Amino acid sequence: MPKTPGFVRIPEIVLRLLFTRRLQEKSCSHLGEIKFRQPSTDVCQLCIEGGDEWPSLRMCLICGFVGCCDTSKNKHMQQHIEESGHPLIRSIETGEGWIWCYPDRALISARSPQLRKPIL
Ligand SMILES: [Zn+2]
Ligand SMILES: [Zn+2]
Ligand SMILES: [Zn+2]
Repeated sequence: MPKTPGFVRIPEIVLRLLFTRRLQEKSCSHLGEIKFRQPSTDVCQLCIEGGDEWPSLRMCLICGFVGCCDTSKNKHMQQHIEESGHPLIRSIETGEGWIWCYPDRALISARSPQLRKPIL
């Protein structure tokens, strides 16, 4: 599960090494399930309702839910994944489009050849 600091952008290759322990992209069998590619909001609505702030945002590629990342106090995306069972999220921080697949534990590049269309 990606745990990325919100204030420093970590190169994708470093994230992949950290979370999958390899440099090469693993294959993901869920990319055909992507329904949402671009976020409809740039806030964590649940954090706002609770009066909290968040370090960085993720989006669920299956239903479009936007929530705060795993380093957030509230971990709203993690909560969404546990409740929904949806497999794929992406980073929606500026300039970032990497995808994380929970079941495959794969970090997919925004311009991966595995994608039918690039995310970014
Ligand atoms: Zn997958
Ligand atoms: Zn949140
Ligand atoms: Zn979802």
